[in-house]
Amino acid sequence: MKSKGSEVERVLIIGSGPAGLTAAVYAARANLKPLVLAGGLYGGQLMLTTEVENYPGFVEGIMGPDLMIRFREQAERFGARIENVDVTAVDFSKSPLLVSAGDAQHVAETVIVATGASARWLDIPGEERLRGRGVSSCATCDGAFFREKHIFVAGGGDSAAEEALFLTRFGRRVTIVHRRDRLRASKIMSDRVLSHDKIDVMWNTVVDEVVGDSHVAALRLRNVGDGSVIEVPADALFVAIGHTPNTAVFAGQLDLDEHGYIVSPDGTSTNVEGVFVAGDVYDVRYRQAITAAGAGCRAAMDAEKYLEALEFKVSPLARL
Ligand code: NAP
Repeated sequence: MKSKGSEVERVLIIGSGPAGLTAAVYAARANLKPLVLAGGLYGGQLMLTTEVENYPGFVEGIMGPDLMIRFREQAERFGARIENVDVTAVDFSKSPLLVSAGDAQHVAETVIVATGASARWLDIPGEERLRGRGVSSCATCDGAFFREKHIFVAGGGDSAAEEALFLTRFGRRVTIVHRRDRLRASKIMSDRVLSHDKIDVMWNTVVDEVVGDSHVAALRLRNVGDGSVIEVPADALFVAIGHTPNTAVFAGQLDLDEHGYIVSPDGTSTNVEGVFVAGDVYDVRYRQAITAAGAGCRAAMDAEKYLEALEFKVSPLARL
């Protein structure tokens, strides 16, 4: 493995969605010359979306990938170095911290983990092709595009319930398609969903295919009990079957909860000194670009404070 040698990074950021790149802007402006290991597919979930209408400052909205290019250029303008590589291993058992990416090993005084979470998808025909054209995983982001439309939601947990309730603000009708005969969602959310006059539930049903050319036109639904298949007209499908946090590489190094999210007592620190967290890799609740950006700012400021305090202690280099 090619070591980056005795160059100890002051701040190394893993991930390049709104959290990672905002952390990079703040760390760079604090003259900490952050290194961002952005991932092979840099930019996070916004690279997979179309129009973003709720990011403040963009009156007419902005395309998700364009927004992330701006984040990146802003970080680079202040001196952040960004490498489109995937982190393959970390060793946080001692200080300084070690991060491997490809054939290089980086040494860092602080690490900000902002690797995000990935929405789970159904993996059915039409789903990927029509993403951003009626197929979405974020009602807060895309619900407003479907005013007075018939919207479908796949899933039966709290996310599906929350998405369905939110979508009633826009849709003429919201239909939840759930593979079992009862919701997994908490009692209070289930009660709200089941008593809502705009929401109905198709039980024991799965979506087999999303049908449409330039946008969603229909769904092919299968009853898992009797195997019968129907095609119903539809304007949108929101997939809400959970998220997977991108934390595989941190297992055994950072405390993770039972769903794999990084545990943080205060929303920035972790169980390892000098390792901070920001964005959806920790936040199961808000999952918004703006909240992730805010978290990136906080993590960078906390890393900066940590480095300041460290200067009065032994240099991590001395412990190499
Ligand atoms: P979840 O609780 O894991 O629920 C996922 C749902 O999707 C389940 O109903 C599951 O069906 C269904 N599902 C999974 N894979 C599927 C597939 N391939 N095809 C069809 N259906 C599939 O995930 P979540 O709803 O995102 O919630 C995650 C955690 O966050 C939970 O702890 C939840 O309580 C919490 N959360 C809380 C709130 C809130 O309190 N407001 C909001 C959102 C999330 P089965 O039921 O058959 O397994």
